[in-house]
Amino acid sequence: MSEDWSQYHQETRFIHAGQPPDPVTGALATPISLSTTFAQHSPGTTYGGFEYSRTGNPTRKAFEQCLAASEGARFALAFASGCATTATIMAMYGPGTHILSSDDVYGGTRRLFTRMCTPNQGIEFGFVNTSDPAAVEAAFKPNTKLLWLETPTNPTLKISDIQLIAEIAHKHGVHVYVDNTFCSPYGQHPIELGADAVVHSCTKYIGGHTDVVMGVMCTSNEEIYNKVKFLQNTIGAVPSPFDCYLALRGMKTLHLRMKAHQKNALRVAQFLESHPKVDKVLYPGLPSHPQYEIARKQMKNFSGMISFYLKGGLAEARRFLEHVKLFVCAESLGAVECLLEHPGIMTHASVPEEVRAELGISDSLIRLSIGVEHIDDILRDLTGALDAI
Ligand SMILES: *Cc1c(COP(=O)(O)O)cnc(C)c1O
Repeated sequence: MSEDWSQYHQETRFIHAGQPPDPVTGALATPISLSTTFAQHSPGTTYGGFEYSRTGNPTRKAFEQCLAASEGARFALAFASGCATTATIMAMYGPGTHILSSDDVYGGTRRLFTRMCTPNQGIEFGFVNTSDPAAVEAAFKPNTKLLWLETPTNPTLKISDIQLIAEIAHKHGVHVYVDNTFCSPYGQHPIELGADAVVHSCTKYIGGHTDVVMGVMCTSNEEIYNKVKFLQNTIGAVPSPFDCYLALRGMKTLHLRMKAHQKNALRVAQFLESHPKVDKVLYPGLPSHPQYEIARKQMKNFSGMISFYLKGGLAEARRFLEHVKLFVCAESLGAVECLLEHPGIMTHASVPEEVRAELGISDSLIRLSIGVEHIDDILRDLTGALDAI
């Protein structure tokens, strides 16, 4: 599909893959190609492989080629959101299929699985702690077709050993898809570790500037690619050319942002871990993280996501959340600005209460998305809010 990018480093792929200068004008910035339809020399003979913009669009193609190269995959397909990506993938499956999923997945993914795929498509789901390979192996059924891994998980940042779990799953003839949103294509390469496909919500680190909702799937498996490509065109949940442009622009600075996110997040995690009002900090880059060794083995960057438990309950959490000045209390993550949220009330409100309790999503849990502002300003803001409790 694209030229061989394996000889180039990650950073170079982000900036150049799929983005040669425009052959007609020489423009360096990838044009936003708005045309819905494309002229044909004669019926069925196109100029550049494009017919109709739902089926294929030049700006989208540039983004897809960049993402494929960045994930070390042969193919990529972009969608209107992360959830549209997952829903389109799920359209490959129907009644009689069993799918295993990490128990602590993104709230919208769990909602899609349990409230759409099960009642409307007849797909059966099992949720398992994928940090425990033995539990994964024990959960496979004869009709298990897919294992949906999220690592680190959201919001408790549990790490699963992608390579080990892919080996186990493949022994059982099960495909492994990894939601790599929290790591970005800079931080972790699941396909190189044996995963069959990778998905991202580009709304997060890839876009990186809080201004685009989009999703993508990457794979090197031609059969999976052809099936999902058919569904991408058939269902039509495609991103706009402008969305593709923004996400592609985000890719060009991804490595710079991820390094800055990690640097700030490590300082914040260390600060919180030593603070008397904090009960426990969850950050894959801290040696205290239960899967720190696996994180070090498979993650090139620990990203900017931190979750922590305050001492106390909802009253203390509320006071903390209401007393930050620089941090913005909002859903979403992975952008240049510091965000924080209360998973129990906000992002994971759609997860049933008993499941939240099981997963450790308690009233005192707070999730931080550390931005790339100056670290002293970030720490001062957190100190002020902790003092207000
Ligand atoms: C945000 C998110 C999604 C969903 O993506 P949207 O672009 O919001 O539809 C899926 N997985 C993870 C881990 C996310 O953070």
